Amino acid sequence: MGMSEFKINILHLYPDLLNLYGDKGNIECLKKRLIWRGIDVNIFCQTIENEKIDISDVDIIFVGGGTEKEQEMVCEKLRPSKFEIKEFVENGGTMIAVCGGYQFLGKYYQTEEKQIEGLGILDIYSEISADGKRMTGNAMVECDGISTKIVGFENHGGRMKIGNYKPLGKVIKGFGNDGESGYEGIWYKNLIGTYLHGPLFPKNPELCDAILLGALRHKYPHFTELPKLDDELETIANTYVSENY
Ligand code: GLN
Repeated sequence: MGMSEFKINILHLYPDLLNLYGDKGNIECLKKRLIWRGIDVNIFCQTIENEKIDISDVDIIFVGGGTEKEQEMVCEKLRPSKFEIKEFVENGGTMIAVCGGYQFLGKYYQTEEKQIEGLGILDIYSEISADGKRMTGNAMVECDGISTKIVGFENHGGRMKIGNYKPLGKVIKGFGNDGESGYEGIWYKNLIGTYLHGPLFPKNPELCDAILLGALRHKYPHFTELPKLDDELETIANTYVSENY
């Protein structure tokens, strides 16, 4: 199958505000793994300066995490688009939301000072514990359908409660959603929410490909498989990290 007929449009929401620990590395990884396969990719950035971007032609929405001030600013900016984003997700659009971005997809999230109404894209919520302890450090997660361990870094005060939704994976090391359920993140249709910050996809190319495959199959129902890439170095790095955590 020739790959040049395929094209993916990625919308990066507020990279100028939410890019803690280099969440932007995920965009680079999505982009490269498409280009290496000869698939066309366009990246659009929604920043505070530009006009609201029309998402009707968007295939993947990415939103990172940040400080609570920036998180609240972005949440407010996105509030007028919440029904549009919900419809996008419900219709099988691909969305990746990290940490602060993951929290505001829910009904509400709490900070040490207040409770903030989320966008209500998902029926989840994030609360602060009485002792105010943060959950910080390297984490490792086992994810259905992914043969390598997902390795990443987390730093959050909020405890995410996902109810009966399917988690991204099972915590092997670290805290995950709330430090007690044993699960990390959420995987709903083609939406992934995670507390794992920074360049998660470069560290976990198999997860990146699973997401790309979902986006391509959603846009092109006849799309079958992604051509294999040479991930020898990435796999060595992932294995080294997972064995040394
Ligand atoms: N409000 C978030 C917290 O629970 C911010 C998380 C983040 O994006 N680092 O800590």
